[in-house]
Amino acid sequence: MRTKPKKSLGQNFLFDKNVQNKILRACALRSSDTVLEIGAGYGALTGLISQEAQRVAALEIDSDLCAYLREHFAAFSNISVIHQDILKFDLRKHFSDTASSDITVIGNIPYYITSPIIEHLFEFRDMVKVMYLTVQKEFAERIIAVPGSKTYGSFSCFVQYHAVPKILFLIKKNSFKPAPKVDSCFIRIALRPRPAVEAKNEASLFTIIRKAFNQRRKTLRNSLSGVVPEKKLSEFFISRALDADIRPEDMALEDFAALANMYEQALKGEK
Ligand code: SAM
Repeated sequence: MRTKPKKSLGQNFLFDKNVQNKILRACALRSSDTVLEIGAGYGALTGLISQEAQRVAALEIDSDLCAYLREHFAAFSNISVIHQDILKFDLRKHFSDTASSDITVIGNIPYYITSPIIEHLFEFRDMVKVMYLTVQKEFAERIIAVPGSKTYGSFSCFVQYHAVPKILFLIKKNSFKPAPKVDSCFIRIALRPRPAVEAKNEASLFTIIRKAFNQRRKTLRNSLSGVVPEKKLSEFFISRALDADIRPEDMALEDFAALANMYEQALKGEK
């Protein structure tokens, strides 16, 4: 039995069968694949995925929907329905029998927790091979943005450090019921075997990146004053042949890594 969609859980169900099939084709699943589906809803994608993959762990936070899914897919031996919040879901515990770096994540996920979900999944980056996600169009543009573009920011750097993101296609808002306010994109985030750049200390790399983009209109020098010593910044600009008035949106990930590594070295007095 269908219940009223819960707005608070981002319940916009994908009813367009053409789009469901397009998503399945784009995921190019193999019969040996283990899939973690986030937010299975009424199983619009779950059944299709189960026909192609070896097994599907269908995660859903809503207990009413879990009851529906369990009944609906009772005869499907390769689907397990899990009543859980993805942000609390420990992939390592659940998939302890799965060969490492082998999980495919698929999710038409609630927009308001897209970033936390991606951050959470990166914590299991040794286990996740690829994520296929439906996200807000503007969010997809931010993820794939390159230096020099208006949408390039700290989250672009974060995702591109761990993975190679790509927009696969656009999904119009009227493919969902109820229709959300904005269009979506179906994206692929393929995890890198190793991060894109070498950081001596990942935490300090991302602290610098976040601080740099906090006030994007400011020059990097101004945004980082009080974070990185002025002398170090000057040395950095000279060593990378960068304009001393460069803005954060013109800094490539390699530049941020070079700056963070230089800073780390200075902290350790390794000069
Ligand atoms: N996959 C279905 C579809 O395509 O029709 C449903 C998509 S709907 C946009 C998002 C689903 O995620 C809802 O069923 C919602 O209950 C579920 N959900 C919301 N927050 C969640 C969370 N933190 N963990 C797991 N599932 C969640």
